[in-house]
Amino acid sequence: MEKINKYKHEFTFHILLNIIIAFFISAASYIHIPFGSTKGVLVYCIHFVILQFTIFGFIYVYTLFKTLFKFTFPILFSTLSALAFWVYTQDITLESSIIQAILETKLDIAIDTLSFPFVIYVISAFLVSFFLMKRFQKLQLNNIKSPLFLIAIVAIISFFIAENYRFGVLKRKLPYNSFVSVKNYLTKPEIRLKEPENNITGAKENLHIIFVLGESVRADHLTLNGYYRNTTPLLSLQENIVSFKNIYTPLTYTAVSVPQILTNKATTDISKTSFYSVYSILNKADFYTDWIGNQTLEKSYEAIVKTNKKVTIIDQFHSVLSFKKKKDLALLEQFSLHNTNHKNRLSTIHMIGSHWYYNSKYTKEFEKFTPITNSKYVGSLSKEQLINSYDNTILYLDYFLNELIEELKKSSKETLLIYLSDHGEILGENGQWFHAQKNNASENPAMLVWYSENFKNKNPLIVKNVISNQQQKFTTDFLFHSILDVSKIKGFKIDNTQSIFSDFKEFKKFN
Ligand SMILES: [Zn+2]
Repeated sequence: MEKINKYKHEFTFHILLNIIIAFFISAASYIHIPFGSTKGVLVYCIHFVILQFTIFGFIYVYTLFKTLFKFTFPILFSTLSALAFWVYTQDITLESSIIQAILETKLDIAIDTLSFPFVIYVISAFLVSFFLMKRFQKLQLNNIKSPLFLIAIVAIISFFIAENYRFGVLKRKLPYNSFVSVKNYLTKPEIRLKEPENNITGAKENLHIIFVLGESVRADHLTLNGYYRNTTPLLSLQENIVSFKNIYTPLTYTAVSVPQILTNKATTDISKTSFYSVYSILNKADFYTDWIGNQTLEKSYEAIVKTNKKVTIIDQFHSVLSFKKKKDLALLEQFSLHNTNHKNRLSTIHMIGSHWYYNSKYTKEFEKFTPITNSKYVGSLSKEQLINSYDNTILYLDYFLNELIEELKKSSKETLLIYLSDHGEILGENGQWFHAQKNNASENPAMLVWYSENFKNKNPLIVKNVISNQQQKFTTDFLFHSILDVSKIKGFKIDNTQSIFSDFKEFKKFN
């Protein structure tokens, strides 16, 4: 009888602990998700219960190390609560960049964080955990003979089964993502950058290239490429636009596609690990290089971006998993034609683009195709809703690029805009959705070129080549080689067969 009572105490303690963790920490990962229908609510409730069950498993094993648990838990709990406070209030996704910001103490963030509610929250978390430890101390039975131990093992196994079923299903939620982020922060990125030689020069005098790096835009959803809906009403009216619809990349998610696009790494390179950043080569040729981004820099390409002379991130904690963050048009507020004395310039604009959750990427005026999605749970949505929401992001892109082009028309420079999405997007093909999976739709990103009248007048042959190459197949390797080609870089060998500005008829004559 006494034994049963002991188990009861132990059980009550763990239930209480679990509820407190749910309240202070893990619920933060769910609060911003649009649930939509009842089915959506139900699915996320089940998700949450499974998450809490697995947490119980790990915590139970943790409590077996009694002294360690007693002294370290309040600190760990308060730290995780502090992170959760950010997630609750600012819809931040915990990633290695956040850990970096905290550990490498950026003052503005530190001050931002020290609000009165934040301090109250963290102190409450500490006090609650401190009193829990008092209760824990009184527990007499807490060992591997307890029936709870067996349940804990089942809970831990459930965690691995769930992760095996779908990668990140639990790891991307609090508290797990905190540990994953710290681990990612401590591991080195795969790409190493080489410093180019000093003898690199450029033969251009007045060139401004604007490279717009898009997100999750598939080529075949643009009217310019024959899509049946009018998703590019403004761009279709612009002159000097050339759309390349046969771009291929086998790298179908941001963390792997972006480092490839921004360097001389080929889509087929697997074994090589060190490469040249396109920016560091242009810097040697005295180009001004600037980056304006609306995405948190991921570890895999952060070092490449930082080879720009100037880097502006408009919303430092904007991950593709956030919902209520800055829209891409805010990028254009940071873009200016006049901020450099350099003769030549490469500006990169990195969009959040058309990444899921689509509705959070555009404003109400662009809600032209309806009905749109009303839940993040795909199982409760129709194919029509998903495609409507997606196509509205393309309308937003159309407006965005059109605004940018209108601004570029004011420039006296030879101006060239290259738009390339980092990969495509799957919209129901083979029963799949989104990207990061092999599928023709995710491997065919949208790509456009626009050139100014000035550019056309000074570079008639290049314009002629671009137009005649538009049906040709290129891999995303083209970006690096084309930019250096059109910049007339000397002292660095490029592959002309990868440049969209090459005269391919000439190549054929020689071969
Ligand atoms: Zn991406």
